[in-house]
Amino acid sequence: MTAEHKTKSTSWKRGFEEKLIRILGEESVISSQDELLAYDCDALTGHRIKPIFVVLPTTAEQVSEVIKLCYKEEIPFVPRGAGTGLSGGALPTEEGIVISLSKMNKILDVDIPNQRVVVEPGVVNLWVTNAVSPYGYYFAPDPSSQIVCTIGGNVAENSGGVHCLKYGVTTNHVLGLQMVLADGEIIEVGGKTLDHPGYDLTGLIVGSEGLLGIVTKVTLKIIKKPEAVKTFSASFDHIEDAGASVSGITARGVIPAGMEIMDSFCIKSVEEAIGVGYPKDAGAILLVELDGPAAEVEAQMPIVEEVLKENNAIQIQVAKDAKERDLFWKGRKSAFPAIGRIASDYYVQDGVIPRSKLAEVLAEIGELSKKYGLRVANVFHAGDGNLHPLVLYDSSKEGDFDKTLELAGEILRVCVDMGGSITGEHGVGHDKKRFLSLMFEENDLNAMNLIRCAFDNKGLCNPGKLFPTPRTCVESGTKPYKEHPVQKAGMGEMY
Ligand SMILES: Cc1cc2nc3c(=O)[nH]c(=O)nc-3n(C[C@H](O)[C@H](O)[C@H](O)COP(=O)(O)OP(=O)(O)OC[C@H]3O[C@@H](n4cnc5c(N)ncnc54)[C@H](O)[C@@H]3O)c2cc1C
Repeated sequence: MTAEHKTKSTSWKRGFEEKLIRILGEESVISSQDELLAYDCDALTGHRIKPIFVVLPTTAEQVSEVIKLCYKEEIPFVPRGAGTGLSGGALPTEEGIVISLSKMNKILDVDIPNQRVVVEPGVVNLWVTNAVSPYGYYFAPDPSSQIVCTIGGNVAENSGGVHCLKYGVTTNHVLGLQMVLADGEIIEVGGKTLDHPGYDLTGLIVGSEGLLGIVTKVTLKIIKKPEAVKTFSASFDHIEDAGASVSGITARGVIPAGMEIMDSFCIKSVEEAIGVGYPKDAGAILLVELDGPAAEVEAQMPIVEEVLKENNAIQIQVAKDAKERDLFWKGRKSAFPAIGRIASDYYVQDGVIPRSKLAEVLAEIGELSKKYGLRVANVFHAGDGNLHPLVLYDSSKEGDFDKTLELAGEILRVCVDMGGSITGEHGVGHDKKRFLSLMFEENDLNAMNLIRCAFDNKGLCNPGKLFPTPRTCVESGTKPYKEHPVQKAGMGEMY
């Protein structure tokens, strides 16, 4: 069964609000039209829908009570962290509510001997590293938005970051979860120890984009800070040479902690915004960070330098201390806001390609930019082949956003044609659901939907995201062709 999200009457809304207030208290229910505006989009600001209410629970039990109410009254709900998502994952649903986890922001347990930290979902990514740093540890996944985005959002999107090349993305650092299912039941999966028997439900939930339930507690793995860190900033006349260096370094058996490229447009924007000292006239900058035992890093440094020179690097700098290293990274991490200063609006695309295709794909993006008459800035996790072309547009110009979406869509087609993916880390969300079928056939999508239905038989949890066409748990295509033996035996039902 799927809820029909019909327009609700004013008296129904009043009654529903009263029920929410009974669960949460007046201070945690937002209904004023002005305040609701703050929740009508995430960082994909081109799409906006005002929710009917926003609630801010402080405990898993409150989340559960709110969801039980939604389940009973068939009201869709959208989980929300800090709203920095770039795929419209936290975009509200028409006639639905938003459940903001921002008040559930406590670090519950710092367990240094076992290298574990247990947090509530509204804890900001960087707070985890800040909490364990005095003990010599850190939390590896570091999205560029890490000073704002939450662990709940990171879990839902399986977020990556500049250091995920060597250490893996969020899923490699989450060991257990508490989650409230779409009927209000609270479940626990995984835990502090490794390898729980049975299905890897933690792995299934990480990256599920808020469609399977609301995460209310997360057990994270932290890792020891490396003994040595060396960061290169190399400039090139041509971005293709920067791309070739990335493949060259890995081909020589060196896996840096991170490898990031910025094109000339990004470099100029960053320099104008914060002036970190990148050469303004460079065609591209490649940042390479080596870390690990001091002897290993020392041995890898000449290899990296050699590859950079072989690929025509015109200037190679190695950060002399932590302060200079932070400055190199500050430039990269400020690239999006720096572009935001000069463009009235920008759209961030997120696609993946095999590393070896970097030069080819960047050239195609250049051609597309000319064809559509829209500027595209390139900044990306080069080591992972994860591109982030930023398309600059002006939302006040009629048709500019539609043109932007078309151009950004063509970039994704190029990525898929090259053997890549329509998303590396920002998720499919609302924005890219129309492209999922570039990678999956109907049967694959139906299989995915069956999993969703097993968690959420009414389709109330973050509906309208991920799947290209509205799917319900009773669509004929989503049912298995034959009745399952468990159903035949009367031991299970298919919704
Ligand atoms: C300047 C900038 C730089 C960025 N850099 C990166 C980067 O380097 N790497 C990267 O991966 N991303 C990056 N992002 C994207 C974004 O920050 C990440 O996707 C982040 O994980 C979103 O976290 P959030 O708390 O803002 O989540 P939101 O945007 O609020 O939500 C994201 C999704 O998670 C769901 N969700 C949130 N909380 C929960 C919960 N408790 N339970 C279940 N579902 C939940 C929402 O429904 C939504 O689908 C960047 C964004 C910006 C604006």
